[in-house]
Amino acid sequence: MQLSYRNRMIIYNIVLFAFAFLIIVFCMFQGTSYYYINQSKDKLLEMTQNATLYMEQELKNPENTDSLENQLISDGLFFSKSISQTEDNRVLIFDSNGLILGDSVELSDTNTLVTELSLSQAQAAPIFTLKSINDASIVYYVAPINIDDRILGYIGFVYPLVEMDIFLRIASILLSIGGLLGLSMVILVTVSYSKHFIQPIKDLTKISGEINNGNYNLTIHYKHMDEIGELTQAFNGMITNINNVILQLESERKRLAGVLASIDDGLLAIDKNGNIITSNSYIKTYFNVSNPKTIYDFEYQSFLRDIFDSLKNGKAHISEEIDCNDRNLLLIGSPIREKGFEENYMIIIRNMTSARHIQEEQRKFISSVSHELRTPLTTIIGYTDMLTRRKVDDPEIVNRSLNTINREGHRLLRLVDDLLSVNKFDKAEFDFKKTNLNIVLLLSEVVEQMQIKASQSDVMINYRSDELPEVLGDYDRLQQVFINIIHNAIKYSNSGDIIDVISAIEDDHIVVSIRDYGPGISEIEQKRIFNAFYRVEEDRSRGSDEGGSGLGLYIVKQIVEKHDGKIEIVSQVGEGTNIIVTIPILSVLIYGGEADEKVID
Ligand code: ATP
Ligand code: MG
Repeated sequence: MQLSYRNRMIIYNIVLFAFAFLIIVFCMFQGTSYYYINQSKDKLLEMTQNATLYMEQELKNPENTDSLENQLISDGLFFSKSISQTEDNRVLIFDSNGLILGDSVELSDTNTLVTELSLSQAQAAPIFTLKSINDASIVYYVAPINIDDRILGYIGFVYPLVEMDIFLRIASILLSIGGLLGLSMVILVTVSYSKHFIQPIKDLTKISGEINNGNYNLTIHYKHMDEIGELTQAFNGMITNINNVILQLESERKRLAGVLASIDDGLLAIDKNGNIITSNSYIKTYFNVSNPKTIYDFEYQSFLRDIFDSLKNGKAHISEEIDCNDRNLLLIGSPIREKGFEENYMIIIRNMTSARHIQEEQRKFISSVSHELRTPLTTIIGYTDMLTRRKVDDPEIVNRSLNTINREGHRLLRLVDDLLSVNKFDKAEFDFKKTNLNIVLLLSEVVEQMQIKASQSDVMINYRSDELPEVLGDYDRLQQVFINIIHNAIKYSNSGDIIDVISAIEDDHIVVSIRDYGPGISEIEQKRIFNAFYRVEEDRSRGSDEGGSGLGLYIVKQIVEKHDGKIEIVSQVGEGTNIIVTIPILSVLIYGGEADEKVID
């Protein structure tokens, strides 16, 4: 059975205490016995001397005629009794042969002195023997009776060490009580003391368990700076470090998750067994599979499994394009090789739909631009060829030809200007020179300018306006906006139509609407016509005069937005089109008083 640390401590301390206690008891008993025995030796010596002196006086009494030895034999009993009375002890008198002459108590146990007596006889010296009889310590003492340098006989004392016995008995009782108390104290102190320094160990164990369960917000409190204190401090330091590392990892994880979430591509990291290590939200967007656990969760996307299989079979790089859920997706697969780690795999899914769309738009644009450039150039070259080669004399033909060359030249210039504008927008280097301007004046000028073009198509432009506050804007660019919109309106109006241009103030906005009664724009097309290069396909079939690059409304939108405004279409096929431009007046309040001219990007 494995004893607990506390129980072991209790046992060790009890053993230690018992050992110390026994040593103390032993020393005490030995010391006490030594003291009492020495004291009794002195006393017995003194008693022997007194008795000898007394017997010498009695034996040398002048009335005594007999020899000293005979005298001793006859007075032996008397001596033993009288000395016993004086010394308050049992006294025995022996002759020189060891025969008992007198015993003050007359007990039959005289043979207990036999050994001492014979030893004393042999050595002619006192013999002292301590015996324990019936739990009583008794000293048997025999000494020669030496008178006139002759040993007349022997005197024996039976001297009980009563005081010593009493003392030792009381001491035993006291020591037993003390021992028991001490033992209890030892147990008590050990238990409470062990609690004192076992508690931090228990805390450490508990906290280790909690750390194991993933709880790292813990500290152990221990106020003493001893070894346990050092241990708890080290442990607390370790927890703090773990916490810091966890926080670091957590922030790294969040950063990584943020990076993954902000990547515009779908991402799948897969381990060797096909388990998904990481995926981002695009996976759900592209494949409608949420939280995939393995590559096999992509039930309907066998191409992903194929890429995974190829990578597993050692292919280093896979790139393929597929059509999936109306999207054009580029799949790029590659292994993730990290030293010391198993090989994993990554599949990046890039949505190429809009890129392909733009490519398509650009392709259309290039062919459209080439076509647009080609048409006026062919006309110009045709006319100049005719004028130079054929020597035309008719001034009317010459005049008409030069007019056509001029018109086509302007058309070319407009196209090139638009292309340059788009290029600048794309590079974000378009500068605006903003001034406080009167939009009514601006629109009047545009309408007047466009009226010529309108009348050529037999179209009338009506312009009405409230009185409007000034707005902050780029005069030339805003003119370009309305020229474009009105130009479109003319282009798509039928002969004899009216175009209504109305400017008004609405809350803190100036609202300009250009309403025509042409073919209108379908809802699908409405979403597209602000895209660069976009033109409604059938428009291209119109006469070369009507053609455009599809850049007009794109440029218009960019300019309006740079004025913090917006552009909307209200249109239905066959019902005509209303293009509404809204520009905030707020900008005047902000910039109005400050400067006449401002340049912003
Ligand atoms: P550009 O203006 O560059 O010479 P464009 O006029 O064809 O060429 P946008 O002004 O951008 O190009 O117009 C895009 C398309 O929107 C046009 O091709 C046309 O089909 C359609 N559209 C624009 N305005 C109208 C309108 N008022 N009525 C009908 N369709 C319109
Ligand atoms: Mg246009």
